[in-house]
Amino acid sequence: MSEHMENDDCEKDKSRLSKLIDDTVSIVQSKVRDSVIDGEIERKVKAVVQQLLEYTAEKDPRFKSSEILSVGSYKEKTKILEPDEFDFLVIMDELSKPGVISIVKDDALPCYAYFEVQDEAVAYNWWCDENKILHQFQYRPNVTGVPESFCTTLLATISEVAKCQNVKLSMDNTTILAVEIEEKTDRKGLIFKSVDDTFLHQAAVRSPNFILSLVVNGHHLTVDICPAIRYNNVNEVYSIDDSYYPDLADRVIKRGTILFVNQRLGGLPNPLHRLFKITFTETENNIVQNMTKTHKHIYIFLKFFNKYFETVLYNPYPSYVLKIACIQHSLTCGRSTIAGCLKHIVEILGMCSKNEYIASPFLKTYEIRKLATAEVDENFLSILTDLTSDLAEIPCFSRSDVDKLQSYVRNNSMPTDELLSLILDKLGILPHESSKEEDVHL
Ligand SMILES: [Zn+2]
Repeated sequence: MSEHMENDDCEKDKSRLSKLIDDTVSIVQSKVRDSVIDGEIERKVKAVVQQLLEYTAEKDPRFKSSEILSVGSYKEKTKILEPDEFDFLVIMDELSKPGVISIVKDDALPCYAYFEVQDEAVAYNWWCDENKILHQFQYRPNVTGVPESFCTTLLATISEVAKCQNVKLSMDNTTILAVEIEEKTDRKGLIFKSVDDTFLHQAAVRSPNFILSLVVNGHHLTVDICPAIRYNNVNEVYSIDDSYYPDLADRVIKRGTILFVNQRLGGLPNPLHRLFKITFTETENNIVQNMTKTHKHIYIFLKFFNKYFETVLYNPYPSYVLKIACIQHSLTCGRSTIAGCLKHIVEILGMCSKNEYIASPFLKTYEIRKLATAEVDENFLSILTDLTSDLAEIPCFSRSDVDKLQSYVRNNSMPTDELLSLILDKLGILPHESSKEEDVHL
């Protein structure tokens, strides 16, 4: 304990908590914030996705995309440790053209909508019911007698690419498990012509997304592709009264358009399978990108804790819940200290554990469910509560700790669980009940 208490560069004032959070962020983001590595990986991932989607559109013009949007933590610059996950929303061109579909004001659940296809030719191409109500276009390949789903078409496209490259795929009808290269070569998977040092080695149909595993510059990473519809009149679906936060609702409305995605809704046939889910991703991304540095750093700090728990037990909070808690706080923040901000966010998370849901800040009527993981949640929350208490002895890193830990992250020289334990160990804050290496920081 004594070692990490004698740091000369720890200031003895309220900024200690600030320093602790900023230092932690600088450690866990030391690799993902390296713009040279990062920019190159991003460019290559995008090029592969773009090319794959072009091939897919050649195979089935319904799936031509008008936009490929980078979303999620990568876009928000809140990624921690490795650049290992990329999320894209792919806008279906045909369904997103003005007037092609219209919202059916019906008995849809909060956050969901039905679409009626107005254009005869379009209705003929897509899976619609007798009233021209559009079905989701993302379903498992075991559904027969209906047009191919987006994912199945992507999978078939990849198979064709493999054939052209004389490469064998080990696959079933939802997954490419491996790419078998017979010739003697350095390649580790399928190649895409625009980026010949990037390999695709696995792919999987998920509901509702499609997952690719790539190797880019030697990094293994996953790409999550989610097809979406851009609906051209947000006012038909959303109004200022839908949210408790008028400024937030205004930001959604000012965008003019709103996105809908397919949603996992159980097996088929199922009437719910015609529901599309509204997504506020664009506004969310924008809010997180423009958060104050304090709020953004708290969010990344929480993600780091979450990740630690995930490696020893399991995720106390889905990272989406952490994000919503931070957004909710940022909408009402009038606090002058970082401890005040963190305390409020911990309170929001505490309520979420108690109620087993967190209210969507976008929609009064929509609750984001979260399964209770009581002990883990309590443990997670109590560490954070301790840090915000007035009497707290806030630990901090020495300069040399920061340098050392940053280099471990950058060079990927330690397994994630060990690294996360080491970071917390340097601070003397390990979860109370953790059975792992109890004596490590004595
Ligand atoms: Zn705040």
